[in-house]
Amino acid sequence: MLRRTKIVATLGPATDSTESLAAIIAAGIDVARLNFSHGSAEEHIKRAQRVRQAAAAQGRFVALLADLQGPKLRIARFTDNKVILKAGQTFVLDAAMDKEAGTDERVGIDYEQLIDDVAPGDILVLDDGRIEMEVQSVDDHSITSSVLIGGPLSNNKGLNKRGGGLSADALTDKDKEDIVTAARLGADYVAVSFVRTAEDMHTARQLLKEAGSEAGLVAKIERAELAHDEAALDAVIEASDVVMVARGDLAVEIGDAELVGVQKHIIARARVLDRAVITATQMMESMITSPMPTRAEVSDVANAVMDYTDAVMLSAETAVGDYPVEAVEAMVRICIGAEKHPTMHQSNHRIHESMELVDEAIALSAMYAANHLKGVTAIICMTETGATPRLMSRIKSSLPIFAYSRHHSTQHRVVMYRGVQTIPFDSAKILNEQTNALAVAELVNRKVVSKGDLVVITKGDYVNAQGGTNTMKIVRVGSDIS
Ligand code: PGA
Ligand code: MN
Repeated sequence: MLRRTKIVATLGPATDSTESLAAIIAAGIDVARLNFSHGSAEEHIKRAQRVRQAAAAQGRFVALLADLQGPKLRIARFTDNKVILKAGQTFVLDAAMDKEAGTDERVGIDYEQLIDDVAPGDILVLDDGRIEMEVQSVDDHSITSSVLIGGPLSNNKGLNKRGGGLSADALTDKDKEDIVTAARLGADYVAVSFVRTAEDMHTARQLLKEAGSEAGLVAKIERAELAHDEAALDAVIEASDVVMVARGDLAVEIGDAELVGVQKHIIARARVLDRAVITATQMMESMITSPMPTRAEVSDVANAVMDYTDAVMLSAETAVGDYPVEAVEAMVRICIGAEKHPTMHQSNHRIHESMELVDEAIALSAMYAANHLKGVTAIICMTETGATPRLMSRIKSSLPIFAYSRHHSTQHRVVMYRGVQTIPFDSAKILNEQTNALAVAELVNRKVVSKGDLVVITKGDYVNAQGGTNTMKIVRVGSDIS
């Protein structure tokens, strides 16, 4: 059985060797994530080249996702690199002090605006939720807090405010430079961190365009403001091509109790609004040091699959973990297992809704026909931009959607979409009346369909025109196809 849910794997030292990169690609990753929070532009460019080479060697299409750091707030550094904070003690964040001279009483911060963004009573969360403190008082350069949950705190750890409300812009100066690097290395997708508004996504798109890239844009949903405002969330989703449920920072901002409900809501809204969605962070966390996932991790990945996410993501597991290949293999196994659940194939086909676009009508009709006509085993979608397969994959189905395209950029784009596989196919070089027969022959060669099966095909009359899909045909394998 073909796996439908896609796997995003973050690259890092654990997957930098030729062997381990080839191994995670062979194990099934669909998207390689370059995390711009770490590493230099040169490193990312080298990683991107290695991914392209390794994928080509295996005849695979693996998309490149450049993930911008965004305004992640961090504390500065300690004289001894690390301190231990005790519950009940006072601790000061001081924008004016030497950035290298932190102690167990005070430490520097890089983001001075924080002083204006917090007030007594606010809860600050450090190191992904491991340390919590309540703000007592604020003066013109420092914030004095009382530690609620103590523990070890080391250099450069992240800092969030519970409930959100930090005013930092989504795109920092570093992000703007990294967008140029992302364009240079040929990223298929670029992810914007700590998005606040649809405007952030428009700005990112403009910058990407100026840098000469048409990469898809991923909005990372990790601010409390978006999780709690349905209209703002919808606007951000509509300004994006893909959204990410960025559970690491999101959970810190909204608290863990609401996280699973918010995950389900974001996935559902993305699908309704015809966007793809990635579920991310700590999915296989224990596999950083263990060859086996915990039952809770198995359940977490399966839950995201059953929420109908397009992709699940590995972070430290493949970037710095001891078992990157095992982590991918475990994800593959769990996705396939969860996809067998009967509710995974039932769709209401948007039957009570109306549409405005012809290609949308064809995409949804094709899915209706494929899901309801007995004997259909595959859907072929001839696509220029990947828009039609994305629409198709918003409808639940157990049938594979094969996106045929002559553009590598489109082929890389569609690997993010659940249930979509891609095949290189240049219909511009083929006589119109032979297209369907040759398209089906590809699937026969790959042993995905066999004699007697029905295949649903969609395409445009004006071959190779964008948004031009206006035709659906159903053909039987083995009979005369025209
Ligand atoms: P990050 O994003 O790993 O870049 O922080 C994902 C998340 O916050 O979950
Ligand atoms: Mn994050």
